[in-house]
Amino acid sequence: MEYEDSFVKIAGLIGGEEYVKVARALLNTEDVTDEEIASATGLKINIVRKVLYDMFGKALITGIRVKDEKKGWFVYRWRAKQDHVDNFIENQKKKILDRLYKRLEHEDSTEFYHCGNHDCPRVKFDAAVELFFKCPNCKGPLNMVDNSRVKEALRYKIDQITTDIANAKAAAAAASAAAEAAEQEPAKKEKKAAKAKPKPKPKPKKQVPKKEKKKEKKKHKKK
Ligand SMILES: [Zn+2]
Repeated sequence: MEYEDSFVKIAGLIGGEEYVKVARALLNTEDVTDEEIASATGLKINIVRKVLYDMFGKALITGIRVKDEKKGWFVYRWRAKQDHVDNFIENQKKKILDRLYKRLEHEDSTEFYHCGNHDCPRVKFDAAVELFFKCPNCKGPLNMVDNSRVKEALRYKIDQITTDIANAKAAAAAASAAAEAAEQEPAKKEKKAAKAKPKPKPKPKKQVPKKEKKKEKKKHKKK
């Protein structure tokens, strides 16, 4: 399936096809009502409402209460919060990361015992002592479990998501820096025209620390 927008993609990941239909309707018509979405998507009104309330609860859409002049009563008009999609994804990743850390902590701090039978559960040390090191399920002998591979897998996943979040943050920072530079561009051109001195393209990232260093040096000299 091809998604046209990250907002629609997220909707699909949360709730599947019904959410995708509602999300598309939200993007197609700004400030759309539940009834308008229902007629545009062919979904039942109660399903549309359920999806809308869920998306509202997840802060992916906003609603405004307006009076329907024809009917004489108040209705909600809904709008996609596309700028919140990135935050939503980041929050989800942070939640997963938190769960992974807790799991790793649990694996690190606990000694597990197991009989080696795939259908039987792992048993913690205290419970294993009480069971006289006999499996509660098959009565086989319980041996200490080497959980280093589990921990390794958890650490790998944690690294992966941490890198993911850092990359997303860097990309967002680069995008906003680019947008800022694009806004400043006309002003720079005017200045250039006034001075009539062609300068090499400025690289703001490199210039900032140099300026700071100079300022610091000046401060030190004053002292
Ligand atoms: Zn067993």
